[in-house]
Amino acid sequence: MHDLVIRNGLIVDGTGADRVHGDLAVDGGRISEVVRAGEGDVGTGRQELDADGCLVAPGWVDIHTHYDGQVTWDPEMAPSSWHGATTVVMGNCGVGFAPARPDERDFLIELMEAVEDIPGTALHEGIDWQWESFGEYLDALEAMPRTVDVGAQLPHAALRAYVSGRAAHDDDLDADQLRQLSALAEQAVRDGALGFSTSRTILHTSRHGLIPGTTALPDELLAVAHGLARGGPAVFQIISDGITHVPEEQAWVREIADLPGMTVTYSLAQSPRAPRQFEDALDAAWAMRAEGRTVIPQVPARPTGMLFGLQSSLHPFILHPTYRGLAERPLAERVAALRDPDVRARLLADEPRTRNPIALRLVTNWSEIFRLGADCDYEPAPDDSVAAVAGREGRREEEVVLDWLLEQDGAAFLFAPLGSYVDKDHGAIRTMIEHPASVVGLSDGGAHCGLICDASFPTYLLTHWARDRTRGERLPLELVVHKQTKATADVYGLGDRGVLEPGRRADVNVIDLDGLHLHVPHMVFDLPAGGRRLVQAVDGYRWTLQSGEVTFADGEPTGARPGRVVRGRRAG
Ligand SMILES: [Zn+2]
Repeated sequence: MHDLVIRNGLIVDGTGADRVHGDLAVDGGRISEVVRAGEGDVGTGRQELDADGCLVAPGWVDIHTHYDGQVTWDPEMAPSSWHGATTVVMGNCGVGFAPARPDERDFLIELMEAVEDIPGTALHEGIDWQWESFGEYLDALEAMPRTVDVGAQLPHAALRAYVSGRAAHDDDLDADQLRQLSALAEQAVRDGALGFSTSRTILHTSRHGLIPGTTALPDELLAVAHGLARGGPAVFQIISDGITHVPEEQAWVREIADLPGMTVTYSLAQSPRAPRQFEDALDAAWAMRAEGRTVIPQVPARPTGMLFGLQSSLHPFILHPTYRGLAERPLAERVAALRDPDVRARLLADEPRTRNPIALRLVTNWSEIFRLGADCDYEPAPDDSVAAVAGREGRREEEVVLDWLLEQDGAAFLFAPLGSYVDKDHGAIRTMIEHPASVVGLSDGGAHCGLICDASFPTYLLTHWARDRTRGERLPLELVVHKQTKATADVYGLGDRGVLEPGRRADVNVIDLDGLHLHVPHMVFDLPAGGRRLVQAVDGYRWTLQSGEVTFADGEPTGARPGRVVRGRRAG
């Protein structure tokens, strides 16, 4: 008798192979048998799950998250765990919490709050700093069982602060500091770091300026990469403005990818300034693969979605003096005030006050702001933008948007795509996902708590791309499952998961594909110190298994916590 049998499901195994009907058996936390319908009898299980009419797929491996703080206090790991993630990789984009001396903790929290919009008060209250080195951080994480496996990367900002203290922000490092950096990178990989991450985008700043490491010279990046390579196979993760087209950046990327065991991965989106550049980037990455270099662009499942609302960090009236006078009041009072005809008239007569034209442009880009209705449409038609509706109705954009913000008693959200929506449809994203060089990433799970909630990317691949899309071609179920399971697991060398075949870990989702339904994101205030975060509920995940144990059943956590720290690479 097996430990567990999943019976009569539609099995999509993560390799990209065609779906089959059949049964799947689990023993000792691993898949022991996969039997196609009509090709034999799998036998019985002590626990049986009836997957009739359901998709059976590997647990999602989400490699772009920022749970570095939350992971220290929260065993449930929502919202990614609600959406069927069974492995998450954190420490992305150069920010994180190890290594850290006691006097660097506030600085690292400040950076995480500034770059990833995770409330600093929650991090201060939530994190119990029981580590200084990266290895000690992993030890501390290991003490808490959780619903998902977590892998961590060494963040550049923390590493730089550790080596150069207050000078971390601007100074170039000297030869001795580079040696230290390299040695620490080597040790981190030996202790179980899956890789290293760095930010090279001007979008990531704190009140001190660009985050540490943003302008690091190639000799620093190579010192780190050599250290990583000495420690073992590892990933070099980059978020960068220039990697797709700046030759100097591409030169050191190639050099790093030439080191033994090194994989380079970076975030790719469609840029409004160069809307076809992503195609060249994908082709270039694929060409490098043919030359033996592993460079893997991570692409989104939908445009990065800023959610404007009265509860979120941004909306079109956030810079208006009349609104600022109300901003600190509870939501219900703000809604009541904004419905008052006098206040409304004053607000609509206001001029936004800011010295930051980029911020103003972001919240008044009327042709790229849409209502996010109950159907959660992340591919809205141009006709549905604020600009289009205002034009049709002969009203000012501000009037339209104010009415939308006040829907659902002020809990409504507007969808403002940040990149990858130049053509006002998902054609570019479809090309990105379909390209053999890409994997799906960028969910940013655990981050951007006040503005973005994209941890549902894996679910969206199924609902939108494999099932619902109407404004263009869909994508095959087998492909989208592959792109978020085996493909992502392979980036980090996690050969023990991401595929449903005998011998692999029994990380499995059983999903009612017809009933799979994304709810509209909503704000909760459940972080430490009452910190807020956007979450998105989902129906349709019947069971999620982590190492053969059911962690979620019909959306409810079962209390099982088989999730551990993933230290280093795993053979299949
Ligand atoms: Zn990130």
